[in-house]
Amino acid sequence: MKRILVTICSALLMSVAGSVWAQASGAGEVEEKNIPIKVTEVAPGLFFQYHHEESNNAWLVTDAGVLVIDTRQHPRRAEELLAAIRKTTDKPIRWVVNTHAHGDHYFGNSVFKREGATFIAHNDTAGMMKSLYGLEQKRRQGYFRQRSFDPKEVTLVLPDVTFDSNLTLNLGGRTVELLYMGAGQNPGDTFVRFPKEKVIFAGGPFSKNSWPNPSFTPSMTGWVDILRKLTVMDVDIYLGGHGDIGAKADVLHEAKMLEDFDRGMRDAVAKGMSRDDIIKNVKFEQYRDVRNYYRMNLFISSYYHFLTKGRAENAYP
Ligand SMILES: [Zn+2]
Repeated sequence: MKRILVTICSALLMSVAGSVWAQASGAGEVEEKNIPIKVTEVAPGLFFQYHHEESNNAWLVTDAGVLVIDTRQHPRRAEELLAAIRKTTDKPIRWVVNTHAHGDHYFGNSVFKREGATFIAHNDTAGMMKSLYGLEQKRRQGYFRQRSFDPKEVTLVLPDVTFDSNLTLNLGGRTVELLYMGAGQNPGDTFVRFPKEKVIFAGGPFSKNSWPNPSFTPSMTGWVDILRKLTVMDVDIYLGGHGDIGAKADVLHEAKMLEDFDRGMRDAVAKGMSRDDIIKNVKFEQYRDVRNYYRMNLFISSYYHFLTKGRAENAYP
């Protein structure tokens, strides 16, 4: 009922505010925000928490303890995640993997540090956590304000163990592979594969039906290649840093969307269009209903920076 009401309100708003609102927001955006947090056991002992408004997590329960993937955007959200984990097991939290260095995936680290976890991340993720921590704090002030979260409660907890290429963990008889395939959305993007379960957690580069932030990528082509490589793996379930549980078709959809975005932006720049011209005239309308479409102006702006300066707006190193 609530969702229906919100849809009606959004339709009213659209008719009142006219085309400005229609251009600023994808049709599904307001409605989707009412999707509740959902925990799914995608394989025995392997849980996925989908939180549409914020960010996702997974955890694996083994006889030797728990491995957690990503820690949310603030210690208070991390406490909620810990409470959700505690509904599934009382085993100790042994490992935390940070898949990439965006604050909505690691600002809750301190809670799991207190629990005694060992933190693992790719070298470049560790480097970005150090060098871009100030930027990440700045980007998240609005989020903290809206929820009355104290930004000072966030402390920088860096990885204890880093790796360069791949790392295989055996935890309580379960196999977990940390894969690095080059930079996708970010340098350091880590994929956590559960080979026996045919499940992969794809962190930053994949989010089902969600526009990803392109302001960190050093190569959109590389990112699209990685997405295509994911789809030829022996995997059935794709878990993203955002969005609900995905399948191969969802990963391919994102690859196509990024290619269309890249091509559209390159064509516009080649025609000599300015950043503002592109924002006004190039809308990527066919992807209007994808989550985060309302941030398209920002995405165009940062990708314009990349195409004209030859370097990501939030570049690392
Ligand atoms: Zn994120």
